Amino acid sequence: MGLQTPGHVLVVEDEPRLAAVLGDYLAAAGYTHHWVADGNAALPAFHAQRPDLVLLDLMLPGRDGVEICRDLRRIGAVPVIMVTARVEEVDRLLGLEIGADDYVCKPFSPREVVARVGAVLRRHRTASASPLAAPAPVPLRVDEATGRASVRGRELDLTPVEFRLLAVLHGALGRAFSRDQLLGRIYDDRRVVTDRTIDSHVKNLRRKLAEAGGSEDWIKSIYSVGYRMEL
Ligand code: CA
Repeated sequence: MGLQTPGHVLVVEDEPRLAAVLGDYLAAAGYTHHWVADGNAALPAFHAQRPDLVLLDLMLPGRDGVEICRDLRRIGAVPVIMVTARVEEVDRLLGLEIGADDYVCKPFSPREVVARVGAVLRRHRTASASPLAAPAPVPLRVDEATGRASVRGRELDLTPVEFRLLAVLHGALGRAFSRDQLLGRIYDDRRVVTDRTIDSHVKNLRRKLAEAGGSEDWIKSIYSVGYRMEL
């Protein structure tokens, strides 16, 4: 699948109304999809359908989304977008490191979900394309030993907190971090700060990256969750 369309999506969702809305939006964007409502049906459907991406609800009858995601990871590299009912749940999921490529919280905008599907597929295809191609030059260097970071050789003038934030994001490219996780990693005493503190550090860091010839877009906002770095 996926040759004639932008991609084939397996939707695992036990709320028929939600699944129908998602299906409509996916179809409008040119995707084909297959829907299953029961966790036990997810893996058989995966093997039968060979989807390019799985949209996976967390709470399902039968097996839950965490178990299914882990199984999919063992099987291969299909991208998975996890759908949860609560923002707080994402922290727990990130902590479990189940390997989802992205997270969406209910209630979601179907348009936003379809945009995420497109972004995850693009990222995935770029990452798996032409393994023989020459490696791209490294645009950003972060040296934790010296506490220095540079964009194509131009050194960044960062505060210690900005450097730690950059080091955490850069140390796990593509991985989503909640604001809470970032706070826990960059502050020794996080009682002194709030979630919004992260947002202002990210804002400054993005500006400095762009001023040095990098891109603000290297740090992606993940709606209602946190941030992720991609170069
Ligand atoms: Ca559900």
